[in-house]
Amino acid sequence: MTRKFTGDTLVVATHNNGKLEEIASLIRPFSVSVKGAAELNLAEPDETETTFVGNARIKAHAAAQATGLPSLSDDSGIEIDALDGAPGVYTADWAETPNGRDFVMAMTKANDLLDQRGAAHPRTARFCCTLVMAWPDGHDEVFPGIMPGQVVWPMRGNQGHGYDPIFQPDGYDITFGEMDRWEKNKISHRAYAFRKLVAGCFE
Ligand code: IMP
Repeated sequence: MTRKFTGDTLVVATHNNGKLEEIASLIRPFSVSVKGAAELNLAEPDETETTFVGNARIKAHAAAQATGLPSLSDDSGIEIDALDGAPGVYTADWAETPNGRDFVMAMTKANDLLDQRGAAHPRTARFCCTLVMAWPDGHDEVFPGIMPGQVVWPMRGNQGHGYDPIFQPDGYDITFGEMDRWEKNKISHRAYAFRKLVAGCFE
């Protein structure tokens, strides 16, 4: 039996405003006050695990321990089959530069590696999102979501963020970067995990 959220404040263990807004809008119908990690001056723990669920657990439990409140985290990324699942948990790291994140550089790296390996088409991949809800007593609930698709080149579309311009979800002939934001937020890996979270902990 999944543990239900009871209380009136949910901590969202992210310093990313995009994720915070997305989560806040989803939780809005349940009259819960949502507080982000930056607002609460929470430290960003090192993500030392090699799986999405491992890193999401680190973030959610660190926030729950620091605040004494139920805390929700999100860890996500893209797994490319012909790169043995890379970049995976290192999806954001591939974009790091001394001057901030450069996703064109990261997407070019992925395509160059695929070309070097002579990877066949379609170059199958999936976006993964794992949400973890953790409580101060150490209990947690895990909600994974996956969107299968393929990596395409060249980049297409300027909507969305991250690796969206090179990811074409199964069943579509446009990339996430070409997709209306509302449409993407209905079908994405994160939307799927969110629906499971709401059904499990909030309904
Ligand atoms: P995290 O903040 O460590 O979870 O990093 C996740 C990274 O995965 C982000 O920086 C994005 O680059 C990438 N990512 C996750 N979901 C998406 C998506 O829906 N579109 C594009 N990139 C995504």
